[in-house]
Amino acid sequence: MMIESAVMELPDTKTIRLKWPDGYNPEFKTGQFITLYWPDTPNYKRAYSLSSCALDRGFYEVTIKRDGKMGTRLVDWAKPGDKLFVIPPVGKFLPVYETAKHLICIAGGSGVTPFRAFVREATRRKLETKITILYSVRQPKDIIFNDEFRQLEQENPRFTFHVTCTRAKPEDNWTGRTGRITPEWVREHARDLTNTIFYACGPNPLVEFAEVVVFELGVSKEQMKTEKWG
Ligand SMILES: Cc1cc2nc3c(=O)[nH]c(=O)nc-3n(C[C@H](O)[C@H](O)[C@H](O)COP(=O)(O)OP(=O)(O)OC[C@H]3O[C@@H](n4cnc5c(N)ncnc54)[C@H](O)[C@@H]3O)c2cc1C
Repeated sequence: MMIESAVMELPDTKTIRLKWPDGYNPEFKTGQFITLYWPDTPNYKRAYSLSSCALDRGFYEVTIKRDGKMGTRLVDWAKPGDKLFVIPPVGKFLPVYETAKHLICIAGGSGVTPFRAFVREATRRKLETKITILYSVRQPKDIIFNDEFRQLEQENPRFTFHVTCTRAKPEDNWTGRTGRITPEWVREHARDLTNTIFYACGPNPLVEFAEVVVFELGVSKEQMKTEKWG
């Protein structure tokens, strides 16, 4: 597929839009991931969560952090007009859009990318499902999709976006929450634990930490879905 656009979200994070070829009209689900490889290195394939949702047609979007070989090549070198091979979406990290459910989505750093898709679809479909994002970043400047999430909060009364900064500096003038994600913070947002489904996505240490935090609340394994990036 051809790269249609490549937008820097942050100095180390880029969203790439891959244009579907003519006649391509896949069935896929919000929350799935695609696998990418470059034509010159077909044996080196890496997975990326879709940051666009199933209602976005005509393209896939992925949001990539500069990290490792593939992450660096994509962020530093991928440009409009380049071609990437795409293995179609798969995965089971799917939002449960039931009316009575509350989805609490725990993210660290770039792990927030599939949650943009979760909230986009729920907002466009005007779903009753409640969605809360609890997002941990080092500093305010590391928040990905801040403007879009704030906009979605305005459009969707069932969605709220909460950020905690683990290393805010005085000059950041950050007035929000500081420190790591804690069971108390999660508990504050989980009004009705039995109807809550927890999601955590990102690098393994963050996801494993989120699992510990959530299980400390006495939540069963079936109520938690994780996507570990490695
Ligand atoms: C289902 C799934 C979805 C994903 N979605 C996303 C996404 O949406 N966005 C995203 O950015 N990533 C995502 N990833 C991660 C992505 O697939 C890549 O793993 C990532 O871009 C890093 O590229 P790489 O694997 O080529 O890195 P590698 O070069 O294999 O490096 C892997 C890790 O080791 C570290 N490393 C490499 N060399 C050294 C060294 N010498 N010393 C110390 N550390 C080193 C790198 O910093 C990196 O963290 C996802 C992964 C999975 C499995």
